[in-house]
Amino acid sequence: TPTIGVLAVQGDVREHLVALEAAGATGVRVRRPEEIEGIDGLVIPGGESTVMDKLVRTFGLHEPLRARLTGGLPAYGSCAGMIMLADRIADGRDDQQTLGGLDITVRRNAFGRQVDSFEADLHIRELGPEPMRAVFIRAPWVEETGAAVRVLARVESGPAAGRVVAVRQGNLLATSFHPEVTGDHRVHSYFVAMVRSA
Ligand code: GLN
Repeated sequence: TPTIGVLAVQGDVREHLVALEAAGATGVRVRRPEEIEGIDGLVIPGGESTVMDKLVRTFGLHEPLRARLTGGLPAYGSCAGMIMLADRIADGRDDQQTLGGLDITVRRNAFGRQVDSFEADLHIRELGPEPMRAVFIRAPWVEETGAAVRVLARVESGPAAGRVVAVRQGNLLATSFHPEVTGDHRVHSYFVAMVRSA
């Protein structure tokens, strides 16, 4: 059974721990540098990326997390977690840093105030034919993708149709939406499979 850490400085940690257990992994909280050593994979939850970044640096987690990611540690970022894994932010705060690794540019709060939070069905081939109910909460979208990045999902209708909301590059996975809140554990199962085959 792989042990998967959930970055637990800020955000919806508990829901990811539950989803990881449902997907056949052991989920553990990661809050201190020592806790990074024993994990086989990392989930970065949703929350507020500016705050998460500050706490990651304050708690001395930035360098050790970067080192493990550079070393190939599989990681999955949801929403603010996607922002943390992005190499570039289109409109970050001046001093906002990310862990990086994904060759993407993300735009924070991209869907605008009118559709601050919304739900949509997405067809994600890697997860099977059944659509996935995706919950977006002040979500980012992916504005640019490098050559090594595979697009897994786009918004299918409405004003944001075509916007990229799920990507994978090697051992890194990211979604704009929150699969941990719906009880559909297919994204977590997909990530656990990535961890097992890493
Ligand atoms: N808007 C948040 C940010 O920029 C992300 C929101 C979320 O994770 N639900 O970090």
